[in-house]
Amino acid sequence: MSLPLATYAAHSESSKGRLYKDQQAQYRNEYQRDRDRVIHSSAFRRLEYKTQVFVNHEGDMFRTRLTHSIEVAQIGRTIARALKLNEDLTEAICLAHDLGHTPFGHAGQDALNKCMRDYGGFEHNLQSLRIVDLLESRYADFPGLNLTFETREGIMKHCSKNNARELGELGQRFLNNKQPGLEAQIANIADAIAYNNHDIDDGLRAGLLTIDQLRECELLEMQYCLVTEKWETLDERRLRNEIIRRMINFVVSDLIEVSHANISEANPQSIEQVRELSKPLIGMSQDIYQLHIQLKQFLRKNLYQHERVQKMADDAKQTVKILFDAYMEKPALLSQDLQASIEQAEKENDTLGKSRLIADYVAGMTDRFALAELKRIKQVV
Ligand code: MG
Repeated sequence: MSLPLATYAAHSESSKGRLYKDQQAQYRNEYQRDRDRVIHSSAFRRLEYKTQVFVNHEGDMFRTRLTHSIEVAQIGRTIARALKLNEDLTEAICLAHDLGHTPFGHAGQDALNKCMRDYGGFEHNLQSLRIVDLLESRYADFPGLNLTFETREGIMKHCSKNNARELGELGQRFLNNKQPGLEAQIANIADAIAYNNHDIDDGLRAGLLTIDQLRECELLEMQYCLVTEKWETLDERRLRNEIIRRMINFVVSDLIEVSHANISEANPQSIEQVRELSKPLIGMSQDIYQLHIQLKQFLRKNLYQHERVQKMADDAKQTVKILFDAYMEKPALLSQDLQASIEQAEKENDTLGKSRLIADYVAGMTDRFALAELKRIKQVV
């Protein structure tokens, strides 16, 4: 049985609704439906072969965008339930939050953004929204997945003012410096907690980081001391796992307690009142947040900028650029369907439209498909 929701939670019955009118489901609320639509989408399945930090073919043990999204949802749901917030909505947002990611993680997004510089740029948050609003084609009656306002609000983590102006009601909060609902705030921070911790795990497995080196991060050092005091002779793998699971628990517990206090103090009576606040209510204590940032900076310096990861990133950027340029110059390399749409755009002198079609196509690729395309293109061009 689910717990009664707080008044300030998102309530399915008073959702701001969907872009297209839709019948109600018999057994599920609106946010359960959103979650199910995300899980059944083809963009969601493709996350399995998209990189987080390591390129997909580097090894089967590393996180992919799919396992990352599941870990984010798991952390998000715990927090939502503890704060009497809407767990279904939190789950839907968490599972959808990375749908718009290109192949090869941030390197891929940076490269595609560069390719699209003269055509409005590329931003993965906006792309996630494009996918759920437009690009998925599953329903006879409407384009995209036709998700509720609240799930779409959560997907839009950040947004430039220029882009926000084009998003109507969804963009308003970026223009007025207001907040999204608490479920969206949870998804945002659950994402950061998940990747900090699993990147440590992956970095250790890959041999790019060592526990000794990581002990300069206080969050890890605290748990390291507790674990080694309790068990003196743990093997490397158990030591690593024991530390990481405790770090997640430690940060999440702090977050729940502090958020609970923040909510009590602000005392919002509805999600609308949460949205009117100038600061988020979901957050860690100042001290723990500083340690979280310290860990993040450590990872940037020692993992993301590691020579081996940089080499993967450089190759990835190169791949994305070659693909984009090749399709722009020679649309005949693409499928009949896509060629027809591009021809139409060319006829109308619509370079923006043409480049966006190609960006959508490249962004949708998995790592391995992009690499296979690179090989094919090199043979035919
Ligand atoms: Mg993420």
